[in-house]
Amino acid sequence: MSRYRLSGQTPVAREMLRGARLRRMIRLTLACVFSMGAAWQAPCAYGWGNDGHRIINRLAASGLPSDAPAFLRSEAAMDEIEYLGPEPDRWRSLAEPELSAAQAPEHFIDFELADKLGPLPHKRFDFLAKVYAAGERPETIGLQPWQADEVWERLKSAMRDYRELKAGGKDTQPVEQAILFYAGWLGHYVGDGSQPLHTTVQYNGWTGPNPHGYTTNHQIHYEFESEFVSANIHAGDVQAEMTAARAIEGDMFDAYVAYLRRTASCVEELYQLEKAGGFIGAGTAASRAFTAARLAAGASMLRDMIYTAWLDSAQPVPDRYAGK
Ligand SMILES: [Zn+2]
Ligand SMILES: [Zn+2]
Repeated sequence: MSRYRLSGQTPVAREMLRGARLRRMIRLTLACVFSMGAAWQAPCAYGWGNDGHRIINRLAASGLPSDAPAFLRSEAAMDEIEYLGPEPDRWRSLAEPELSAAQAPEHFIDFELADKLGPLPHKRFDFLAKVYAAGERPETIGLQPWQADEVWERLKSAMRDYRELKAGGKDTQPVEQAILFYAGWLGHYVGDGSQPLHTTVQYNGWTGPNPHGYTTNHQIHYEFESEFVSANIHAGDVQAEMTAARAIEGDMFDAYVAYLRRTASCVEELYQLEKAGGFIGAGTAASRAFTAARLAAGASMLRDMIYTAWLDSAQPVPDRYAGK
């Protein structure tokens, strides 16, 4: 909901639109906060909601293969990684306006807009350059894959340091804490990446040609990812849909974008389920299965990314000066 669209307008119109949309965003945020009152916990439309993010992170941590280090598989590690599932949503508070604005685009990518700019470059600033050159703004399009890939690389780097400290007989406790933080922080974005409405311009009500009559109301996002999940989906439902653990082959950025595109392929099914009343109350068997499968895709991908970071952290670091 904190996303606004600026494309296809004159500069003056864009400024007006931006102002109107920012005012709408603030109104929505305040409405969310006040409607939840003292019981307010999860922000509105910010990913899977508190419960979904916690389920994804805990299942990923508890599903790590036995050759992942023991400190990562401890009960305390699972508690910490679970706690961190909603962490970037805690950075959306109006009390920290600069942080909130800077990190908001990292929760989503609208492939319809991103793909207009050509193949996605691996490096964040190469993408930003393309966005600005096209007269667009990254806040509108989203930065999901770059954030996820960069946090994954932080995790891998910390794991490499852990290996070095351990091999040298040094204290590994401080780096273990860093690894848990990176793993939990990563989990938020990987979790968002399994929510179809975080990959599309159709993120909160159908826009443009609508021959199937999908909802245009601006409620589907929150109803699906927060209310419906909290009321109907349990960790056991999600765990049953998870894949077997595996190492991710090849380039992680490419693998992650492929994961996001699989998520994006579920957008229309989600709208069909909504049309059939799937996200009201207890929903339908199909809507519950769909939601559990989406959460399971996030948990499976997060588990495999953490595991792959561990395996890859044993690889020798390329020599910066090789061939010079
Ligand atoms: Zn998020
Ligand atoms: Zn969301």
